[in-house]
Amino acid sequence: MDTRTPETGEPGAEASAITPMMAQYTEIKAANPDCLLFYRMGDFYELFFADAEVASRALGITLTRRGKHQGVDIPMCGVPIHAADQYLQKLIALGHRVAVCEQLEDPAEARKRGSKAVVRRDVTRLVTPGTLTEDALLNSGRNNYLAAVARQRGGDDGDRFAVAWVDISTGEFRVAASDRERLAADLARIEPSEIIVPDALFGDEALSHFWRGLPAAVTPLSSAFFDSTTAETRLASHFGVATLEGFGQFSRLDLAAAAAILAYIEKTQLRERPPLAPPIAEAAGGTMLIDAATRANLELTQALSGSRQGGLIAAVDRTVTGAGARLLARRLAGPSTDPAVIGRRLDAVDWLLADQTLRESVRADLAAAPDLGRALSRLLLDRGGPRDLAAVRDGLACAGQVAVRLYEAGGLPSELAEATAVLAAAPAALTAHIAAALRDDLPHLKRDGGFVRPGYRADLDDALRLRDDSRRIIASLQAGYAADSEIRTLRIKHNNVLGYFIEVGANAAERLFQPPLNARFIHRQTLASAVRFTTVELTDLEAKVAGAGDRALAIELEVFDVLCGEVAAAAAAIRGVADALAVIDVAASAAVLAAAEGYVRPSVDASFAFDITGGRHPVVEQALRRERKSPFVANDAHLGATNGAAAGSIWLVTGPNMAGKSTYLRQNALVAILAQVGFYVPASAAHIGVVDRLFSRVGAADDLARGRSTFMVEMIETAAILNQAGPRSLVILDEIGRGTATFDGLSIAWATIEHLHEVNRSRALFATHYQELTALSARLPRLVNVTVRVKEWKGEVIFLHEIAPGVADRSYGIQVARLAGLPASVVERARVILRQLEQTDRSAAAHALIDDLPLFSADRRQEVAAETDPVADILDAIDVDDLAPRAALEAVYRLKAARKRMEK
Ligand code: ADP
Ligand code: MG
Repeated sequence: MDTRTPETGEPGAEASAITPMMAQYTEIKAANPDCLLFYRMGDFYELFFADAEVASRALGITLTRRGKHQGVDIPMCGVPIHAADQYLQKLIALGHRVAVCEQLEDPAEARKRGSKAVVRRDVTRLVTPGTLTEDALLNSGRNNYLAAVARQRGGDDGDRFAVAWVDISTGEFRVAASDRERLAADLARIEPSEIIVPDALFGDEALSHFWRGLPAAVTPLSSAFFDSTTAETRLASHFGVATLEGFGQFSRLDLAAAAAILAYIEKTQLRERPPLAPPIAEAAGGTMLIDAATRANLELTQALSGSRQGGLIAAVDRTVTGAGARLLARRLAGPSTDPAVIGRRLDAVDWLLADQTLRESVRADLAAAPDLGRALSRLLLDRGGPRDLAAVRDGLACAGQVAVRLYEAGGLPSELAEATAVLAAAPAALTAHIAAALRDDLPHLKRDGGFVRPGYRADLDDALRLRDDSRRIIASLQAGYAADSEIRTLRIKHNNVLGYFIEVGANAAERLFQPPLNARFIHRQTLASAVRFTTVELTDLEAKVAGAGDRALAIELEVFDVLCGEVAAAAAAIRGVADALAVIDVAASAAVLAAAEGYVRPSVDASFAFDITGGRHPVVEQALRRERKSPFVANDAHLGATNGAAAGSIWLVTGPNMAGKSTYLRQNALVAILAQVGFYVPASAAHIGVVDRLFSRVGAADDLARGRSTFMVEMIETAAILNQAGPRSLVILDEIGRGTATFDGLSIAWATIEHLHEVNRSRALFATHYQELTALSARLPRLVNVTVRVKEWKGEVIFLHEIAPGVADRSYGIQVARLAGLPASVVERARVILRQLEQTDRSAAAHALIDDLPLFSADRRQEVAAETDPVADILDAIDVDDLAPRAALEAVYRLKAARKRMEK
């Protein structure tokens, strides 16, 4: 059934001229060219022209035609209002932006202006990936960030960047300084779903690849959004303060990024002002830097297959609230580099670990609490309903309960003491007020009414009584009419057109047209099978009933607004409570994890240590248990600097395929991450000097999506490590050099290890199938050879998954091939060939290299650098005959500066 409201001036009402409605549509569409336009017509959002074609394909809905525009059919499709969220979600997920255009008046109003008048409409909201608030469109366990990137063209030390990001659904607002080198890692940590950038930055040739490679929607905006001269005033006026000083230290660039976010939100939300918390400036270097490749490789948020199952988060997340899950995901995305912060978090875990009963009751409280933060944002955005008010009530009540439990237990460590203090300060009067005002059973939408508790407002109760009385009166009228007319089937009914009316069957109706009954019964309508009448009594009643119902709803909406006002006034306190509950949930979940999985408290400090005893891979360990396989074999790693020097060791891991090299490498990175998140770790002991950057690479990673050869990707990623890693970094290199010919690969791996050892001096693990590399330990004092042990038994290999000092004696590739089911003839032939090859010993060449090749060193690196001499370059570029005195002086300054830079 088509319930679209007919309207004057519909598209195609006239064959050739542009109809008034089409004129309106075209104008609105022209103002929003980059969005699909959802054009409200009655109970539908309609899309026209190219939008209709795109949307019908994307949504799998029928493309129809409606009238003609300048003689050509107009393609059209529509989605019903009640299902709009679901369609929006699909379009946003596909990367589209949607402009929602509403009717701003009742069509009846428009008709009063004349038959040609069009209903007034305008866009009330732009729906973009970064600006969602609806629960249906959001994942409860993940933040949905909108980020802005601002750039300042730099001089000597390169361009500077600032990133600002908000989650409109929770109000969180942050800013951090960045630079070209770490921008990718910063964005990978934040994982925004949408990024806004100034046109010029978006159009920069050098970055176009970067923007295109990001998994977020990147939206270029005019530079006016990022204007740093007006940024501070824009921010101050948004937050209603005279100066931003109270919020912390911000650079001009920080402010430009933050103000751009505000401007974009105003542009997309139009009518509403989302309730943002004041921006927090994140300290530079406060979190472990982990680039996107490392995140993917370590399977932090999802497995390489793309499923959440198999990722680190799924294995360690035991939170019971959406806000807790979001906080945990945030901490895992950016582990702390501050031993004090980490220590505080671990103290909280300790405390909750010590008391299982308390922990379980707190978790039960939390599990029953609704998502306070998101309900709050919806209410403040005027998109909330009665259930959101109830969420505030229940969330605050839960806060009180949890606070009492923790206080009573006593001896709280600082993180929990702070959170509990916030909970205890929750606005109790507001909770009580909402509880008094709202019913227990609540409708979804406020416009349906029926959510205010009886007894709360006398005038509401009166109106409702009248409405309900009228119902009783109608019932008795119906009985009276039926008796008087002797028509037993006479009914009083109601619809929106006639209001209340009397309906009788077509055969019985005749009696009502005859005297004396025709004096009372007034004919209204004749249908095929029924005839409808009214009476004076019924018309009077109609007015009274309708009035009572409307009045009741108006009173309920007023109550709703009052409560919303109180919620808005307490917004900061409520947000604080929501955050505090999340902190407690995360600490309790870490304790649950530690208890269930037998994790230990790591010791994290400012040293360069890296001592893991009995370490395990958190995800593989659980998977083996689930699959009832033999338990995970624990292994040690000691990569720390000896005697406290700022230079880590490199463990070179050899061993056959399937021995467990990759698992071992990753488990050590994951232990470091968990430790710096402030979690217990899967090990029997762990001492870690804070890791500031974590790099993990696998040889020949498949990256066909970006259209680069896999080996190229491998080398780009390795280059990033060699250029950036330092002694605070932890570097994991898994079979680097695998993606090319043997000798190429071996040489690259060789030089990479030397560079890591001599220049980067990072703590590192390097797995390789090039046995030849083990010879390097003779020359590099901090290179340690270890191997994953296997046992050979009756010609079969048995993997022990045990790391031991030494070198794999053989690669067992042929045994593995046999296990995999290669035909026996092929396996036999391979054995013969191998024997032949082993006679022309490849490793002899490697040993020769060790003796002949001078070691890679930092000195030699400078030699290479010296080949390009900036001073000479400047001199060469000067045309002496064409040099004004002033330009000459400037050239001398430039030369001096270049010389000084070289000396550094
Ligand atoms: P490699 O990188 O040496 O080829 P992997 O690390 O991919 O080997 O491990 C191969 C398989 O061995 C893994 O899928 C895992 O199930 C198992 N495995 C690895 N390490 C261990 C361990 N420490 N304990 C038990 N099983 C392990
Ligand atoms: Mg491997």
